[in-house]
Amino acid sequence: MRHQRASLQELAEIAELRDTRERLDNEARDAQVVVEDLTAEQDKVDADVEVVKARRARDRNRMDQGLITNPKDLERMTHELESLERRIASLEDDEIEVMEKLEEAQAALDSLVAQRTAADERLAALTESRDARTADIDAQLDALAHERAPRAEGLPDELLALYDKLRAQKAGIGAAALRARQCGGCRLTLDNAELAQIKAAPSDEVIRCEECQRILVRTAESGL
Ligand SMILES: [Zn+2]
Repeated sequence: MRHQRASLQELAEIAELRDTRERLDNEARDAQVVVEDLTAEQDKVDADVEVVKARRARDRNRMDQGLITNPKDLERMTHELESLERRIASLEDDEIEVMEKLEEAQAALDSLVAQRTAADERLAALTESRDARTADIDAQLDALAHERAPRAEGLPDELLALYDKLRAQKAGIGAAALRARQCGGCRLTLDNAELAQIKAAPSDEVIRCEECQRILVRTAESGL
C-alpha cells in the first residue's frame, strides 16, 4: 500500500505539469513585456503623427488666411507642407506596422495565458484525485496496521526485525511458504539435502531460503 501511495500515476503527471506550467508562465511574462513595449511604441507613433498633423493644420491655416504674402515665404511654406505630408505618410506606415506586430504579440500572449489556465485546471483536478486516492490508501494502511498488530504480538523482536528488513529488500515479501518443495518467494526447488536439513530442524528455528534469503514458512504442503 505504501508503494502504491508513492507511485500514484497522478504524481508523475503533476510533476510534469508543474514544469510545463513554469515554462508557460515564463513565456507569458516575456510575451507580456513584448506587448507592453509595442503598446508604448504605438502610443509614441500616434503622438508623433498628431504633432505633425497639428503643424500641417497650422501651416495650412496661415496660408488659407493669406498671412503669407512674400513669394519666398510662400515657396518655403509649400515645401514644408510637402515635407510634412511625406512625414505623415511615413509615420502612418509605421503605425500600421506596429499595429500588426502588436496584434501578433497579443495573440501569442493570449494563447500562452489560455494554455497556462488549462494547465492550472488540469493540475487542480489531478491534485484533487491524488489527495482522494492518498486518503483512501491511508485508510487501508490504517486498517492493515490494526490487523497486523495482534498478529505480530508475541513474535520475537529479532524475528520481526529480520522480517521487516527482508520485506524492505525483497519487493515487499519477507517471508514465503515452502510449498511442494519450492520457495514461494523465488520459486526455486530445494534439493533433497536441504529438505532433509529443514525437516530435521526444530519447529521454532527460523529457516531461510538459500537462494533469496527470505524466511521459509513450513506448512503441511511443504513436501517434507
Ligand atoms: Zn527463495
